[in-house]
Amino acid sequence: MLTFLAALALQTPAPVADNAVWTQPELERVANEIRAEVEELRGMKFKGPVAVKLTDKAGFFEYARRRQAATETPEKAYRDETVAKLLGLIPASMDYQKEMLKILEEQVGGFYDPKSSTFYLMETFTGGVAKIILAHELTHALDDQHFDIDGTLAQCGDETDATLAYQAVVEGSGTGLMNQWYMKHLSEITPADLAAAQGLGAETLAKSPPYMWKPLLAVYLLGDSFLARSSGMNLTLKKAALSDIQATFAAPPKSTEQILHSNKYWNADERDDPIRITIDTSALPEGWQVAGVDTLGELYLALLTTPPKKRKGLDVTSALAVMGVNYTNAAAEGWGGDRCVLLRNGDDTMLQLVTAWDTAKDADEFAAALGDPARPSSIPVFKGSGRDAESGWIRGASATQAVVTRELAADGQTPLVVLRVFSLQAPATEKVIEQLKLPYSLAGDAR
Ligand SMILES: [Zn+2]
Repeated sequence: MLTFLAALALQTPAPVADNAVWTQPELERVANEIRAEVEELRGMKFKGPVAVKLTDKAGFFEYARRRQAATETPEKAYRDETVAKLLGLIPASMDYQKEMLKILEEQVGGFYDPKSSTFYLMETFTGGVAKIILAHELTHALDDQHFDIDGTLAQCGDETDATLAYQAVVEGSGTGLMNQWYMKHLSEITPADLAAAQGLGAETLAKSPPYMWKPLLAVYLLGDSFLARSSGMNLTLKKAALSDIQATFAAPPKSTEQILHSNKYWNADERDDPIRITIDTSALPEGWQVAGVDTLGELYLALLTTPPKKRKGLDVTSALAVMGVNYTNAAAEGWGGDRCVLLRNGDDTMLQLVTAWDTAKDADEFAAALGDPARPSSIPVFKGSGRDAESGWIRGASATQAVVTRELAADGQTPLVVLRVFSLQAPATEKVIEQLKLPYSLAGDAR
């Protein structure tokens, strides 16, 4: 798991780090010390041992490869990349896997492998920063022993929104405890240590689209504030209550909407669980098949409703920049639920995204952000290649066309926005667009 160190961003740059080298006995001694502190800070005991090992870039790549093979199918990887490209969130020409691995390679300080209950520290990290990483990763180990992290992740399946919401609990827990440990040991952490870690991967992140880094950053920082029941960022490093941590692991938030607006999880009165939407793919036109199904959620849709001009890289060297990141916006707020289906026919792809909203105004705002004021009776097709002139938001393949419609659910109440994106060899005719219209229903609809 990635170890992004939020606390580090609060420091000012200083000269080089020390170049001490770990020995295995020394690592184990330090890990044991921090393990005891983690137990004390959390108020929970480890149930069993945690192995600690040193590793290097090659070791990380091997782990990342094995972990991906065990937890991700090639179909999911294809789905995620294709959907992101159809939505213009990453350039169509990008080798997504390679770029993502590059970010991780530069950012990772250590990782915890739930399969083998082993914590790995990247050997290049020493001194105070290594201890901060130990505090974070040992918290994952402690949580895993009590709450079975992989078991819950498996239950999230290939669902993007639910997985991110659970990752926010896991990383928020690790980040919160890490921050508590850091506050206790401020004097032991040298500015040089921090500066070295802080600049890691800065160049890559500064050039990466938000799709690559925002969800990553969100699970650490928003996860921490969610658990502490803070509104906005947890700038005061408020400690989450143990009972709250236990409650969220037992009954994880169901969507990133609940992470972004923690009152929608914590307050019974405001509790807002996602509306389940089903898209019927039982009668597809010849040649077409389902290449993926997913729920994207508010955090993801907020990437889509961020105007292209504002989709910038992240400056990790600036605390203000890191703490000032916006994770949602007016167009994505008021999310009620969504479902998307990716269809494929040879090189042709089509995405249908059905979104439900709390109010008609919320739906209008989302539709407007997609580039077209809702005109329910017409099909607002963005014509021409590139499709940027009017809306600015589609930057996918040159033949990409998008259709946005404002609709009403069968209950006669729930406002919907349906987005369909076509990437076809030949421009989509109205007939093709009509043929590929997939029926959908909301849970609770009369059937
Ligand atoms: Zn972590």
